[in-house]
Amino acid sequence: MYKLLLFGLFLCCQFVSNAQTTIIHCGKLIDVDKGVVLNNKSIVVAEGMIKSVEDGYITPKKEDKLIDLKSKTVMPGLMDMHVHVESESGPKRYEETFRENESYVALRATQFCERTLMAGFTTVRDLGGSGINVSLREAIKNGIIKGPRIYTCEKSIATTGGHADPTNGVRDNLKGDPGPKEGVINSPEEAAKAVRQRYKNGADCIKITSTGGVLSVASDGTGPQFTIEEIQAIVKTANDYNFVTAAHAHGTEGMKRAVLGGIHSIEHGTFMTEEVMDLMIKKGTYYVPTISAGKFVADKARTPNFYPKMIAKKALEVGPQIQATFAKAYKRGVKIAFGTDSGVSLHGDNAKEFVFMVEAGMSPMESIQSATKNAAQLMRIYNTTGSITSGKMADIIAVNADPTQDINTMLNVVFVMKEGEIYKSEMK
Ligand SMILES: [Zn+2]
Repeated sequence: MYKLLLFGLFLCCQFVSNAQTTIIHCGKLIDVDKGVVLNNKSIVVAEGMIKSVEDGYITPKKEDKLIDLKSKTVMPGLMDMHVHVESESGPKRYEETFRENESYVALRATQFCERTLMAGFTTVRDLGGSGINVSLREAIKNGIIKGPRIYTCEKSIATTGGHADPTNGVRDNLKGDPGPKEGVINSPEEAAKAVRQRYKNGADCIKITSTGGVLSVASDGTGPQFTIEEIQAIVKTANDYNFVTAAHAHGTEGMKRAVLGGIHSIEHGTFMTEEVMDLMIKKGTYYVPTISAGKFVADKARTPNFYPKMIAKKALEVGPQIQATFAKAYKRGVKIAFGTDSGVSLHGDNAKEFVFMVEAGMSPMESIQSATKNAAQLMRIYNTTGSITSGKMADIIAVNADPTQDINTMLNVVFVMKEGEIYKSEMK
C-alpha cells in the first residue's frame, strides 16, 4: 500500500513537472529574426515549447519555475551544419579504424555529443560517419544520452577512390569493391540507389564528396570526383524524400558541378572563385565554411606525425585558404550557414567558428544568425526552431556578455535548455 502510494506520488510529480510553466527573465535577448538585441524580456516555456515572449520581467505564479538570466544575454540554441559526431581526429585515427568495434565508437561518441550540447549547440547536422550516427540520434531523441538534436546523412556518398570511399588507403585484399550500399557510386543509376539506401538506413539528409578531400588517404584533395549527371541524379532522388543535400568541395570544377547540379550547400568551398560565388547567389546555394577545420588541420600538419605525410601536405595547401575564401564570399553576398567540421576539429570547440567569422569581417550578429536562422532555413526547420518565437521548441542558451559587443563570450555558454529541459546552468 505504502509503495503504491509512493508510486502514485511519483507519477503525480512527473505530471506536474512536465506541465510546469517556466519563466525565464532575460537581461538581453537576441532576436535573430530581426537582427536586434532586446532588453528586459521574459520567455514563457511549457511542455518543451516557447509559449510567449513578453516585455519586462513578468511575475511567475506560485507553481511556476523562475530562471533568472537578468545578467545574461539569451539567444536561440545554436546550430552547427557540419559535424561528425562519431569520431575526433588524432595521430592514431588511421590505425584506430581497424581496431575499434562499432559499440566502442558509439560509446565514445556519447561524450562528443554531450560536449557539443554543453557548448550551446542544440541542433547539429552530421555530414558523414559509418551509420552509428543514426543510432546516436535515436539515443538522444529518446533521452538515453545527452546531446544535440541530430540530422544525419548517415554515410557520405563518394565515387570509387574518392573522398569517403571507405576502403581508401587499405591494403589490396581489404579494398573489395564497395557500391551504392556502402555509399560508393559510379553512374546516375547507382547514385539514385545510394540515396535510397541512405533513406532506408534512416538518414535525414544527403552528403556527397564532389571533390577530393584533405583527410582521406589519397593524393588528390581538390579535383572533381562526380560527373554532373551523377550529381543531378543524387539531387533529384534526394528531392523525392525531401532531403536537403550538401556537397563537400575544395576545388573549383567539382564545386561548380555541385552548384549547377542543384546541391543545397557547399561545404568548405576552399578554392571558390567569384564565378562560383555568383552562381551560388543566383541559385540560392548556401556556403558552410568550416574555417575551424581549415585552421585545425593546417596547425596539426605542422606537428610531426599527427597526420600521414600525404595528408599533411594537402592540409597545408587547403587549410589556410578557407578563412580568406569565407571573407570574399561573405562580402560578395553568398548565403552563409554556420558549420565547423567538428570531429576534424574538436567537439565542444564549435563556437570558435564565431570568432573566426568575425575576424574575417562578418558582424557578430550575422555570425549568430548564420548559426540559428540561416542554418534552420537551410535545413527547412525554421518553423520549429532557430529563433525564440512562440510556438517553436524551447531551445534556449545564454552567455555572460552581449556577443554583439564581444564575440569571445560565445566560447563560454553558461545556460543550455533543449526542448524545455535544462542541461546546463552555471549561474554566478
Ligand atoms: Zn566534414
